[in-house]
Amino acid sequence: MPLMTTKPMFDLAYTGGFAVGAFNVNNMEITQGIIDACAAEQSPLILQISKGARSYANMTYLRHIILAAVEEHPELPIAIHLDHGDTVDLVNQCIADGFTSVMIDGSHHPFAQNVKLSADAVKVAHAAGVTVEAELGMLGGIEEDVVGLSAEEYQKNLHKFLTDAKEAADFWKQTGIDSLAVAIGTSHGAYKFKHAAVLAFDRIEEIMKTCPGLPLVMHGSSSVPQEFIDLINKYGGNMPNAKGVPEDQISQAVRKYGVCKVNIDTDLRLALTAKIREVFAKDPAEFDPRKYLGPGRKAIVEMVKRKLHVLNSAGKAEQVNAQWKKLGEPLPNYYKKCCCHG
Ligand SMILES: [Zn+2]
Repeated sequence: MPLMTTKPMFDLAYTGGFAVGAFNVNNMEITQGIIDACAAEQSPLILQISKGARSYANMTYLRHIILAAVEEHPELPIAIHLDHGDTVDLVNQCIADGFTSVMIDGSHHPFAQNVKLSADAVKVAHAAGVTVEAELGMLGGIEEDVVGLSAEEYQKNLHKFLTDAKEAADFWKQTGIDSLAVAIGTSHGAYKFKHAAVLAFDRIEEIMKTCPGLPLVMHGSSSVPQEFIDLINKYGGNMPNAKGVPEDQISQAVRKYGVCKVNIDTDLRLALTAKIREVFAKDPAEFDPRKYLGPGRKAIVEMVKRKLHVLNSAGKAEQVNAQWKKLGEPLPNYYKKCCCHG
């Protein structure tokens, strides 16, 4: 059962020229689409759950859907991760729900407060055998409860919001986090930029130098492929001017600069929505949910496969499993409880 923390994954991704995709799950079809793609490509993966997903789907349902995925594909390295946790309470709940990794996001707080919140989260998570991602710097865009700046405001003042390399080193030292989400020019949501985005590769390089060994994470890294926006608009949608981070830039950040985890949510939503819109537009009489959710799930499979190649993680499952074994098969304490002793 290679359910694992992110450690064995990032150990290899750090120097291996690949990143692990972290895909947001909200329901059964999305989870199945992600898993089927990763199984076909033999890729490690992170299933991540936001606070919004917890309240939308009910954590009991999500937990069982994810455990079903793990049971169906025991050969795949899978981590279950909290996306954008905002309190230590929520981190504790996720530990109790069997998450193997959590994110604590104090990036909107002043530095000292972010350090305190992140260090508190590390304390409880590490005691439970769970890995921790924190965030430093500021992203643009909108992601559920995470509201950043408008695209225009963000681009104009970009240099002020990017993660500072020296601060990152202090932050790491003071918190003991396992990975760091950095602001390097990406942005949440489907309306990231007015013009084509340019990632601050020099900033990634600086942070890699001041924080050697610390896995870096890119949020807001959907590409918002134009063909899906065109499909949505063709079949009755209204998404003008949606723009993302070009896939070649993501690929460069991963292969050349060593980014270890890339978060992708918007592109899955676009794939699902485009397909469902197409079904409804072509067959307005259709009302069987399986007839539109089924094709939607297939569209997610294709989108995730495409991403696994951008991230260069296809074919890396076996290596990651071997690293997991080498580390002594670390799992959070949650999974070590004996069935007869609770
Ligand atoms: Zn994010």
